[in-house]
Amino acid sequence: MAEKSYSPYADSNFPQQVYWGDTHLHTTLSSDGFISARYGLSPKNRLDLEDSYAFAKGKTVNAMNGMPMRLSRPLDFLVVADHAEAMGLMYGLASNDPLLRKSTKGRKWISKIKQIIETKSPAQAEQIAWALDPDTQYFIDNQDENDREFRQSIWQKVITSAERNNDPGKFTAFIGYEWTGMVYAGDGRGWWHRNVIYKGGGEKVAQVLPFTQLDSNKPEDLWAYLESYSDKTGGDAIAIPHNPNLSGGKLFKTKDSYGQPFSQKYAVTRSRYEPLVEVTQTKGDSETHPCLSPQDKLADFGTWTWFGDKGEAVNSRKYDYVRSALKLGLQEQGRVGANPFKVGMIGSTDSHTSLSNIEEDNFGGKLLDLEPDGGRLQRAENWFEQNFKLKNTLLAVARGNPQPIVKDGELSIGTVMKVTLSMDHRVFDGSDGAQFLTGLKELLENPTDLVL
Ligand SMILES: [Zn+2]
Repeated sequence: MAEKSYSPYADSNFPQQVYWGDTHLHTTLSSDGFISARYGLSPKNRLDLEDSYAFAKGKTVNAMNGMPMRLSRPLDFLVVADHAEAMGLMYGLASNDPLLRKSTKGRKWISKIKQIIETKSPAQAEQIAWALDPDTQYFIDNQDENDREFRQSIWQKVITSAERNNDPGKFTAFIGYEWTGMVYAGDGRGWWHRNVIYKGGGEKVAQVLPFTQLDSNKPEDLWAYLESYSDKTGGDAIAIPHNPNLSGGKLFKTKDSYGQPFSQKYAVTRSRYEPLVEVTQTKGDSETHPCLSPQDKLADFGTWTWFGDKGEAVNSRKYDYVRSALKLGLQEQGRVGANPFKVGMIGSTDSHTSLSNIEEDNFGGKLLDLEPDGGRLQRAENWFEQNFKLKNTLLAVARGNPQPIVKDGELSIGTVMKVTLSMDHRVFDGSDGAQFLTGLKELLENPTDLVL
């Protein structure tokens, strides 16, 4: 006892410094960070990896729309986590990459993309590009030697840029990517994406290629890949799942990918490679849901899912949220002797603009087509805009009450409904607000206009 110091903190050896950063940023190397209705498939003026790092370090960078952007406070670390599937492909095709030109397939795609760029409007080019389904149609099964050479060159670019920007003690550039495991439509649809982050530097990481959904859609195979990476290089890596809220009841289901109950080995392996969950980001909160936490008034904060309120979605929600998963983890620990869901929680951006800004008053938009512009009020034109535009506007609508009003010089009873618009302030926003409320009044008085 005598040897113990007076202060309980003097002997502590746990980490005490908090670091802030982003483990989930997409750049032009992701298909969905490149293809855009505003810029089509043109490779011109695209931001590159260096811009992403400069921005994270606190420099001012012009967004694709020309608007200068800067973080209010530089980050301590960044993981550029582009989709492993078709990484760099659309940019490479659009910019006539010499390695892609080496194969007949590459030359065919390059000329197709060139035609699309030259003859179509950016919005049409965007639609055609998605219809080409570049992620799965080009690489097919990851077995082609030419493809491998191209994939390696892109991966080396990612590694080199991270190494160049890693500044020990000041800024950490982790090497990583996103494994995009999912079933997009039909029965069993859901997302179980993971961001893979390597602990070591480029020498080790360059010995492997990212593991993609085309290699396998099962997280068990991703963990086997991480294990083989450690065996081969002596390095280490983790995987961080994100958007459990969109997993369709899959992420924390207590069955493995083959429908079997967890074994002890599964639980140990999972907690070994997945010590964290990205619990919040632009595509919604994954901490809890009102139907799982009815007593918690904040449970509906940032809730979003596109699996709707169908019966099966409600029944499987406990597998979509971390608060319920922590309980399931303890339950599994009691059963197999190891806890598969002993997870810490983080938040990240999942921005696809090459720029990691997600502050409420400095939000750079989820995708290139959703970058902020001068206005603060804009009608959402499509699904993505409705869900990700997030302009800072609140409309409060009160109940209609009978009140005395003067109409045509006569006193009569009318229904008066108060509406209040709160929006981000600009010098001239009075005009924006008045136009919006006048439009709203017209629609309320003529509701049939909404459906015509
Ligand atoms: Zn992502």
